[in-house]
Amino acid sequence: MAHFVEVILPIPLERHFTYALTAQEAAKLGMGMRVAVPFGKSKIYTGLAVRVHTTPPQGYEAKGIHEILDTDPIVNPIQLKHWQWIAHYYMCSLGEVMRSALPSAFLLESETLVLLNKETEFDEAILNDNEFLVYEALRHQPVLKVHEIAAIIDRKNALPLLQGLLERKIIHLKETLYEQYRPKLVKYIRMGAAYNTDDALEELLHLLARAPKQSQVVLALFQLRSTTKKPISTKDLEKAANASKGVIRSLVQKEVLEEYHIQEDRVNIGTEGATDAVKELNEYQQRALQDVLKSFEEEKVALLKGITSSGKTEVYVKLIQDCLERQQQVLYLLPEIALTTQLISRLKAYFGDKIAVYHSKYNVQERVEIWKHVSHHDPKAQIVIGARSALLLPFSKVGLIIIDEEHETSFKQFDPAPRYHARDAAIVLGQLHNAHVLLGSATPSIESYHNAMVGKYGYAEINRRYGNVLLPDMELVDIKEAHRKRRMKGHFSERLLEEMTETLSLGEQVILFQNRRGFAPILECLSCGHTPQCPNCDVSLTFHQYRKQLRCHYCGHHTAMPESCMVCGSTELDTKGFGTEQIEEEVSALFPKYQVGRMDLDTTRGKHGYEKIITSFERQEIDVLVGTQMVTKGLDFRNVNLVGVLHADALLNFPDYRAHERTFQLLTQVAGRAGRTKKRGKVIIQTYNPYHQILKQVSTGAYEAMYQEQLYERELYRYPPANRVLKITFKHKNFQLLNEATDWFCGALKQKIGAAVLGPEYPPVARIRNQYLKHLLVKMDKKVALAHTKGYIKRVEKSFGAIAAYRGVRVIYNVDHI
Ligand code: ADP
Ligand code: ZN
Ligand code: ZN
Repeated sequence: MAHFVEVILPIPLERHFTYALTAQEAAKLGMGMRVAVPFGKSKIYTGLAVRVHTTPPQGYEAKGIHEILDTDPIVNPIQLKHWQWIAHYYMCSLGEVMRSALPSAFLLESETLVLLNKETEFDEAILNDNEFLVYEALRHQPVLKVHEIAAIIDRKNALPLLQGLLERKIIHLKETLYEQYRPKLVKYIRMGAAYNTDDALEELLHLLARAPKQSQVVLALFQLRSTTKKPISTKDLEKAANASKGVIRSLVQKEVLEEYHIQEDRVNIGTEGATDAVKELNEYQQRALQDVLKSFEEEKVALLKGITSSGKTEVYVKLIQDCLERQQQVLYLLPEIALTTQLISRLKAYFGDKIAVYHSKYNVQERVEIWKHVSHHDPKAQIVIGARSALLLPFSKVGLIIIDEEHETSFKQFDPAPRYHARDAAIVLGQLHNAHVLLGSATPSIESYHNAMVGKYGYAEINRRYGNVLLPDMELVDIKEAHRKRRMKGHFSERLLEEMTETLSLGEQVILFQNRRGFAPILECLSCGHTPQCPNCDVSLTFHQYRKQLRCHYCGHHTAMPESCMVCGSTELDTKGFGTEQIEEEVSALFPKYQVGRMDLDTTRGKHGYEKIITSFERQEIDVLVGTQMVTKGLDFRNVNLVGVLHADALLNFPDYRAHERTFQLLTQVAGRAGRTKKRGKVIIQTYNPYHQILKQVSTGAYEAMYQEQLYERELYRYPPANRVLKITFKHKNFQLLNEATDWFCGALKQKIGAAVLGPEYPPVARIRNQYLKHLLVKMDKKVALAHTKGYIKRVEKSFGAIAAYRGVRVIYNVDHI
């Protein structure tokens, strides 16, 4: 009987691939094991076996596999189901989900890597256009795969071109083979088996009497053994005996000493073990915990809304404890793992080395180790803390999933596929494991709060800070007025300077928040602060330099760049913002006696970038910390008593339907950094528009009012939660073709879904890597079956793909685009 296997390959094609197996292979191969398979003419891929069967494929002869790569499954059935959900819901292939789930060390490929040949000097003028593109690309990224190069020059077959470059020695090729995961082995040393008795030992020392160096080594080993029970590494012995490797090697050869290996886990965090006792909850925390447990009993996801510093983390700790007692795994998701060193050390103090941290900055090897621990339900990984990708680990039995700061938009993966929302995918994972799911936030997303209000989720809240510390006193400062009266020093109002002077003179610290996102500038009037809005959507228009236009990214509305302000007529219009760096300079000049630090993307590169800044702020080596939204997250600094927001309007005017919600969340979060201990903190928010509803709501903590108002607007403009938003992006290097293709697609969609299709529209950065981009936005009523609409879109894509001219146009789906 013939045997076959269905394989997932790490490519964007939406189907399984069938390969033939020998009877022996079929007996060994199981679901979730990897196989190396041939693909196309010359490629080798690693695929994942999903089903072994005996039905030959129709219409072609299945190729055989190259080899089976695992003896045990590395992926389990629940995981596979979860992947299927992700692929289906986020409209991508299972292979793409697999590629992002598996550490790359698991996905061996024999793909050719291309590098520049640095030895060769030549005149760039000898290159033709495509060659030059490749050359340019390689100067920016030292290594590219052949298929990436093919994409850059937009050709199926890049080999002839590469051949030419190779002949002229402009590039090299490098064949990577199996980059296997190798456990890190540490060499240890002990006495040889023959010398374990006292008699034998005495004889040995006698023998070695004339070899002082060797006897020194033996004696040193004894000394080490008497001081520690731990294995002794060869390195330690070398050091203790002050001996060379050669001396030790010759003793090993004589079998006086014996070397052995122990696998040491690379990800060796917190071996110190737990030290802190879990805290008693106060009555508010206790009540919230009861409400959460009640939701769990009703098999509902629970939302915990607790103001900053109310002690949500301690509630999580109780739930984690319960879950560990039930012998189940805990998944703790955070928006940005790098920002949470404080939280991790807090949890480690309770749970010690039961915690594994899954970190995007970890290398491939480290990821493989955690993968294995999780898969074996190893004691070292009972609690997994991580950012969104931790969700894709091979959990065998999850009992509790906590999604902290659930409102954070960074839970949504933007690129590449799968473009999933970790909160939503975690809820589905919870269902598959029958696990409890808790969402926590001081400022829940409109979606989650809505789900709680309509009873779909359970709800709990804590409205007091722990220890009854008051929420900080918030003051809105009108900088429009101050500008007019020429009362600003740089970007600082008198009020902010006054408060800074006082706080600093008391030896307390200040956080200054300046949100600055590089591209998509908006236009702002310098005298009245007005920013032009789109008439059809609730968003600000974005300034496009190259066409001197203002455009709406949602509906395509656009106007020429105005000469003067539509409101006050002033011609002083500003398109440049100001960034953290400028603020840092200004503070240094205004307060020369104090230390100023900056925390933003530029200053936090590298594995320990954040920690360094956080630690020196904690140690009060820095008096004023200037930062982007990184300073808003979860940090608990005891000595901060003033938070200044330099320009709240920049947030409000962000061209996004979530701008208001996000402003509320960010400002509440950043304000929460002030006065976390006994003394009441102060927050100064500078704005051109102190009467703006959202700012008033922030300053009075009126979450409920904000929610009602946003919900109303979202319904009016057909955004979530009542609707789903799907963004379709088209990419091609030919501008004309892209426009035609997008129009065709849009037309086909509109035939069926009509008014809900918006666009096509260019994004603010309309060309990336030589590819033009265009978007369509599809708004879907939640009441209409999603599968139905998606099915229709997929059918349109199929007909689209059948048009020869459009075949090179890439179509990218972003479901629940935010
Ligand atoms: P949140 O996560 O809601 O912002 P935290 O959990 O960080 O709040 O709590 C704020 C501070 O209060 C922390 O320093 C924490 O150690 C302390 N705290 C919270 N709950 C308790 C408790 N039950 N007993 C003692 N200290 C607590
Ligand atoms: Zn104006
Ligand atoms: Zn618009």
